[in-house]
Amino acid sequence: MEAVINKTRLALVEGDITREETDAIANAANEGLRGGGGVDGAIHRAGGPAIMAECRKIGYCPTGQAVVTTGGNLKAKYVIHTVGPVYRGGTRGEEKLLASCYTECLKQAVARELKSIAFPSISTGVYGYPMDEAARVSLKATIGFLKENETLETVRFVLFGKAALEVYEQELRKLL
Ligand code: ADP
Repeated sequence: MEAVINKTRLALVEGDITREETDAIANAANEGLRGGGGVDGAIHRAGGPAIMAECRKIGYCPTGQAVVTTGGNLKAKYVIHTVGPVYRGGTRGEEKLLASCYTECLKQAVARELKSIAFPSISTGVYGYPMDEAARVSLKATIGFLKENETLETVRFVLFGKAALEVYEQELRKLL
């Protein structure tokens, strides 16, 4: 599914984000930037040790913020590591923090004059964020950003599995 927001193409696809041909991919990292399971592990495995070497130098990223490293062996030139909130029922500021993950990554992409970025569904694995709520928050934050910023050509959400894609499609339809 695709939509045009202001000057940017917003696309929802099913796939493996490590294979994306894009200027940057976002990673659902942890605060210590130590790598781990899920999409984080997949990105480090596919991208090789150069990404972790830069993560070690940076050392830390607070929840809701984003830091940039090389894309190593990935097709993407950069990995933008962001730390999603752990979901604790939705009353601990999770929504604001999750929205911030997307806007901080988008800001980093714009600051580097990138034309394209791909996102996974941050916080919806080990961090437990319900997929439908996460889809609404992520898409709303991204659309809001794109209404104010015109330099990105493409933003893709690369969802892992058909079920996740369908939830995102449903939430995007509601927001358009
Ligand atoms: P978090 O700790 O932020 O919850 P996870 O990596 O556990 O991060 O999960 C985030 C989302 O990424 C989940 O919806 C998971 O299905 C998805 N995911 C896992 N591997 C990949 C991949 N290779 N490409 C895209 N999405 C992925």
